[in-house]
Amino acid sequence: MRRALIIGGGISGLSAAYYLSKAGVPSTLVERRPRLGGVIETETIHGCVLETGPDSFLSAKPWAMDLIRELGLEGDVIGSNDHARVTYVRKNGRLVPLPDGLMLMIPTKIVPLLTTSLLGWGTKIKMGLEWFRRPDGAIRPDRSVADFIAEHYGQEAVDYLAEPLLAGVYGGDPNKLSVASVLPRFTELEAKYGSLTKGVLHERRKAAKQAKGRPLFQTLKGGLGQLISAMAASANPRLEVVHGTAEALERSAPGWRVRVDGAWLEAANVVLACQAYEAGALISGVDPELGSLLNGVSHSSSITISLGYEKAGFAHPLNGFGFLIPKRERKLVVACTWVATKFSHRVPDNLVVLRCFVGGEDETVLRESDEALVEAVRQELREIMGVTETPVFSRVARWPRSMAQYTVGHQERMKAVEARKAALPGLHLAGNAYTGIGIPDCIRMGKQAAERIREAEL
Ligand SMILES: Cc1cc2nc3c(=O)[nH]c(=O)nc-3n(C[C@H](O)[C@H](O)[C@H](O)COP(=O)(O)OP(=O)(O)OC[C@H]3O[C@@H](n4cnc5c(N)ncnc54)[C@H](O)[C@@H]3O)c2cc1C
Repeated sequence: MRRALIIGGGISGLSAAYYLSKAGVPSTLVERRPRLGGVIETETIHGCVLETGPDSFLSAKPWAMDLIRELGLEGDVIGSNDHARVTYVRKNGRLVPLPDGLMLMIPTKIVPLLTTSLLGWGTKIKMGLEWFRRPDGAIRPDRSVADFIAEHYGQEAVDYLAEPLLAGVYGGDPNKLSVASVLPRFTELEAKYGSLTKGVLHERRKAAKQAKGRPLFQTLKGGLGQLISAMAASANPRLEVVHGTAEALERSAPGWRVRVDGAWLEAANVVLACQAYEAGALISGVDPELGSLLNGVSHSSSITISLGYEKAGFAHPLNGFGFLIPKRERKLVVACTWVATKFSHRVPDNLVVLRCFVGGEDETVLRESDEALVEAVRQELREIMGVTETPVFSRVARWPRSMAQYTVGHQERMKAVEARKAALPGLHLAGNAYTGIGIPDCIRMGKQAAERIREAEL
């Protein structure tokens, strides 16, 4: 079997390497950082299992659990403590729980909706009347999430539900994000039922049956870094890792050649599993139009700031998964996870860990020092939660331009990418810029790239 070449050692590239190895195809993986995992990184500080990047994956998508089972790690899987799942949203300076029965931003229960102080009466009435929308059979062009949610539930639902939820997941702006790419299920429900609330309620039984008591989020006892180590170890016999930077990509006799820190590596198949702008820079010498399509995918940056405190004397109750701050009330912190409540096996009994998420498209914050960031976050936690204690540790992790943004028109862009790629045999793309931002989707894309290479090699 001819050796394949993979650029990028995050979960996407590593999945390609793992599934290639499993199929008997050797690969060389080029990764710029001195470690594998990309934005996935688990550290242990003061006995706490700290995720400096993602902390879990959605259990509803199968590809992460499939991989975990193959690796024999099923016994180490832990789920989010959903019995304690309350998420607070800051409204007029107070933390208000998201009303019970909310499916993302769609209300499905009347009493919690009527009694919540998160939304005003105008919004509650609009939400109730949404039930009476009928499907109009129109095929609608892509819209922003903000336009879509405002049309169904009003602007306050955008400001206090859609915006904070999407900022917490994507570090993104609902005025720019594409509803067809980010919330495809919602556009299907709209087309079928007219009303999103009616659609969710009609399909809830089916969804509940599929979920079968599964927790919303899952991870591993040792953190997601455990998955990365297991994948690398399992792929090892047929995986060569080169820590260096892919600087140039060209066509060559076997198919492709990549210059890595001055030396050329050749292969029939190359998987670009780096960020889209990195892939765009590499491919632009071969196909400038594909390069510019890839460069056109914008990315947001984020920082996680984890603060550990002594539990004794920590005043604020941690009765929930944490909170979200809507843009209207935001200074720096977008979201905060109360780690020990969300997951067991993370924090020793004597400590408390608050994991704050700072991010968005403004990159100036990345240049702040760790000390300045910790100080600013502590100041905000004081205002929001009354936390005056001094942390026993802090850990700041920066993720510049790491989260692809599926802006309006993303699906059209992806069709154009696919069309250009079809004319470049042996070129494969995987990563969070294409057809799914989360870990399970990245695994799926890496796996698909491996399957295509294996088929080509047969
Ligand atoms: C802070 C944060 C929290 C998140 N939380 C969650 C979560 O809880 N659940 C979830 O499902 N998803 C989450 N996500 C999203 C998800 O983690 C990512 O989309 C996914 O891990 C991306 O994997 P990837 O392999 O595509 O990219 P990356 O992890 O970015 O890996 C790309 C790799 O390519 C390397 N590279 C780039 N260019 C070159 C080059 N020229 N030469 C060599 N190497 C190169 C980079 O160094 C990097 O290691 C989160 C993302 C972030 C940033």
